[in-house]
Parts: sequence; structure tokens; C-alpha cells
Amino acid sequence: MADNEFEGRTALVTGGSRGIGRAICVRLAQSGAKVAINYVSDADAARETRKLVNEAGGEGRIYKADVSELDQATAMHKEIEAEFGPIDLLVTNAGIAKFADDTEMGADVWNEILKVNINGTFHPVWLAKDGMTERGFGRIVCISSIAGLRPNTTRPNRLIAYGTSKAAVIGFVRNCGNAFGPEIRVNGVAPGLIDTDMTKDMSEENRQIVISRTPMRRTGKPEDIAELTHFLLSERASFITGQTYVASGGLVTLP
Ligand code: NAP
Repeated sequence: MADNEFEGRTALVTGGSRGIGRAICVRLAQSGAKVAINYVSDADAARETRKLVNEAGGEGRIYKADVSELDQATAMHKEIEAEFGPIDLLVTNAGIAKFADDTEMGADVWNEILKVNINGTFHPVWLAKDGMTERGFGRIVCISSIAGLRPNTTRPNRLIAYGTSKAAVIGFVRNCGNAFGPEIRVNGVAPGLIDTDMTKDMSEENRQIVISRTPMRRTGKPEDIAELTHFLLSERASFITGQTYVASGGLVTLP
């Protein structure tokens, strides 16, 4: 769906190399954005995203950085601004999940998940917000999860740390939306179960349980999340800030 909504805009998508982040990069490129594709370890995947971005009509560049580390996030931010211009559109999508129930999870898993999913959201936003305010324009979407809205429904609950980290993202969005208006809008997206590398090792039994509880009777595609993200970044969402929207095939609306 090509349009010129983001012509002349620079976008940063953290974790843009694979899965949901890749689909977001491509969707923004279809609207003419210059897309900074961040990754941390999978350079081949990042190059593939760049190819797809360029084919979609945008201009892609790759930036390696662990966004949970402030020094790396800062260096990347400076590099993007020097090469690509100031960041207008920011999607904090980089995230990790480690599946461990309460008997398996120790402080190491807890700390790692909270560091990547919370600090990795905070750093890019904090680095971008002052410039966005000065220029009078900034659009931010932070990727959360339905795990941040309610506990995991399959047993045992192996998403305690992950769900906690994604609830923090929802709180961060609410507070930043309130703090950074009117120049900057900040919104969240809370996906349900999406087919990506993150979920590929899920047991077929659990996948079928989730599908059976999902009114749309399917898992989601990365493109489902990219479309909502695109909308929230666009001026069609000009009266929306501080909110987190669910895209889960209806799953989380059930008791
Ligand atoms: P994925 O396929 O595992 O991809 C994760 C992406 O994040 C990769 O691009 C990875 O880079 C990057 N990344 C991980 N840690 C990073 C770090 N410290 N610094 C920079 N980049 C980092 O995951 P996904 O399913 O697309 O998930 C994307 C986001 O959606 C995550 O925040 C996830 O929590 C959220 N989400 C996913 C689902 C789902 O069902 N899949 C549901 C709800 C929410 P490399 O390629 O270099 O490793």
C-alpha cells in the first residue's frame, strides 16, 4: 500500500532486522520514509530488511547497537542523525522473551528481560525526545504485549518477567504521552500471539489453545502489527497519545 505519508521523514525502528520490526520497516518504507534499521546480532537479517525496505520505495540503513546499553544507543542515535537527519518517527520494538516459570526463573532471567525490554525502550525515547520537541514534531510507538495487560493464560505461567516488563512499557507510554505533548505523540501497541522467531518454539498444543481462545481463530502476522503502528505514527491518529492499542485477534477482551 504505497502512499507518501512519511516522505522526507526519518524513522528508527529498533529490532528492525526480523519479525514485527522488519514488517514495520517495510510498511514505513512503503510510505516513503528513510528507515534506520537497528539490530543487535543478526547482520544477515538486517541486510535482508534493508533490501526489502529499498524495494518498497524507502531508503534503508543498518545500525548495530544493543539498545539496552546507553552508550551503544547514544552512539547509534548520533550516527543516524549525522547520516540520515533527525529522527521524526521512532518505534521501540526490540525485545526479548525468555520462557521460565516461577520455579525456573531466577534474578538473572528477571534482570536480562527487564533490562532489554524496559531500558531498551527508555534509551531511544530519551535520546530522541528533546530534538523532537525543539523541532515541534515527533511520533513514537512502543511495542508492548498483551502479556503486559493480563497474566499468561496457558499453564504454567512462564511469562512473569516478560509480562512485567511489557506492563512497564504501557506505563511508560502513558506517562510520556502526558509529558511530551503537544509536539510529540507517544502510543503503544500490544500484540497478541504473532508468528515470528520469538514464538516459533511454542508447543503446538499451547498454540492451539491460544487460537481456540482467539475470536479471529488465527495467530497474527507481523504485518498486522505494522499496519496499526503505521496508523499511530500517521496524522490519521493526530488526537491520540498516551494510549496502548491491542492487536490480538480479540484474545485479550475475553475474561
Ligand atoms: P523477534 O522475531 O525475536 O525479533 C526480535 C528483534 O529484536 C530482532 O530484530 C533482534 O535483533 C532485536 N533485539 C533483541 N534484543 C535487542 C537489543 N538488546 N538491542 C537491539 N535489538 C535487539 O521478535 P518479534 O516477535 O518480532 O518481537 C518484536 C517485539 O514485539 C518485541 O518487543 C516483542 O516483545 C513484541 N511482541 C511479540 C509478540 C509475538 O508473539 N511475537 C507478541 C507480543 C509482543 P537481532 O535480529 O539482531 O537479534
